Amino acid sequence: MKRTAALSVLSVLLGLAAGPVFGAEVNLYSERQPFLVDPLLKAFAKSSGIKVNMVYLKKGILERLKAEGRNSPADAILTSDIGNLHNHVKAGLLQPVSSGKLKANIPARYRHPGGLWYGLTVRARVIFAHKDRVKPGEVTSYEDLTKPSMKDRVCTRSGKHMYNVALLASIVAAKGEVAASAWAKKLKANLARRPQGNDRAQVKAVFHGECDVALGNTYYMGKMVTNEKSPVQKKWAASVRLIFPNQKDRGTHVNISGAGVTKSAKNKSEAVKLIEFLSGDFAQKIYAERNFEYPVKPGVALHPIVASWGKFKADNLYLDKVAEQRVLASRIMDKVAYNR
Ligand code: FE
Repeated sequence: MKRTAALSVLSVLLGLAAGPVFGAEVNLYSERQPFLVDPLLKAFAKSSGIKVNMVYLKKGILERLKAEGRNSPADAILTSDIGNLHNHVKAGLLQPVSSGKLKANIPARYRHPGGLWYGLTVRARVIFAHKDRVKPGEVTSYEDLTKPSMKDRVCTRSGKHMYNVALLASIVAAKGEVAASAWAKKLKANLARRPQGNDRAQVKAVFHGECDVALGNTYYMGKMVTNEKSPVQKKWAASVRLIFPNQKDRGTHVNISGAGVTKSAKNKSEAVKLIEFLSGDFAQKIYAERNFEYPVKPGVALHPIVASWGKFKADNLYLDKVAEQRVLASRIMDKVAYNR
């Protein structure tokens, strides 16, 4: 009898056919923080019997995978932003995964058409506007930030940061290169100061009166309003209104965090099971809630704070289309000298 056949007979005898697979493991490289992922990995291990060995890399999964090549122990990666996911695709580090469960749980626009990456949480890039200095209705779209009346009133982080590159890439996809270039140029002309700091630093600048409106990702609002370590951030957050841009036309630009299976994976089926688990109702709720993000799976309940921002229409552009325009968007940022 062949070894695999003998093993399967043995598992049936032991009643393990549908139960946990003892000794099964999956090696995960994660740029997502342990506080977000650890509880999910524990729950996955409990339900599947598959142990997850996670290596947390704050940044640099790409470099690590490139350096390790086919000997990499990593089976799967977890990272945020379509830019990061796409860079792994371009470097040939991911392999296609076909899974009915993933297709059913994750809307097509939040996954790679060839199954190279799958979105797991969604964040919107919104406008934070000062509650008094910006009148209701004064700013309702990304385009409004470029109006002459917004001169010296806008703060953003670096135009080359991937969050802003993806936003500009979505404008390229929606309106073409010429319109997107004009938008970036006018936005730069309206900046109150040179691009600097992270998303939260822009809200801080609004609080301090350096500017009236800023661009930022939704989850930072949740992190600021609940920040016990740095309670001053609650004041920053309280000074602004969260505006979902472009509700009357294409919708608000959204981005994802997501996962992929590495080309070097030795435990592919375990890696797929892990990603499937993360896309399911149980994990979706916890994963999204912990970081004040939106679940990628429709119908999963939101964190009450996230729900309090109201319903919004997301740009329904496929994120792989955003990825395709990233290089051009980045070039536009250079051309308009956005950071200078
Ligand atoms: Fe972030």
